[in-house]
Amino acid sequence: MSATVFDKIINKQLPADIVYEDDVVLAFKDINPQAPVHVLVIPKHKCRSFADLDEVNTGAVGQYMHAVAKIAKQLTGDAGYRVVFNVGKDGQQTVDYLHAHILGGKQLSWHPA
Ligand code: 5GP
Repeated sequence: MSATVFDKIINKQLPADIVYEDDVVLAFKDINPQAPVHVLVIPKHKCRSFADLDEVNTGAVGQYMHAVAKIAKQLTGDAGYRVVFNVGKDGQQTVDYLHAHILGGKQLSWHPA
């Protein structure tokens, strides 16, 4: 797997506006935000895509999802939010490193197609 921008952010070779970090995940603001809250959450143990999560042990997947939920709650309170995983070509995934988009901070519309 070749290094992506998110590998470089994890390795601190590229700067990012980090909002949360622990042993399992790193969360940082999207460089091109689509909502007042737009944060990307990536696992520290690399996985290329949501489509490859079936190859990751369920404990690690659970820890990752738990972190996404915790960070979303910290950033948006009880107002609600959206979690998006873009997958592959049709899903318009542009970075080959698993990432959850957390979007919120306003009333979101629904026009993904
Ligand atoms: P995707 O389309 O793969 O689901 O989303 C990739 C996201 O990464 C995009 O929303 C894009 O704005 C964001 N992004 C791409 N390069 C960088 C970067 O260098 N820094 C940050 N913070 N976000 C990036």
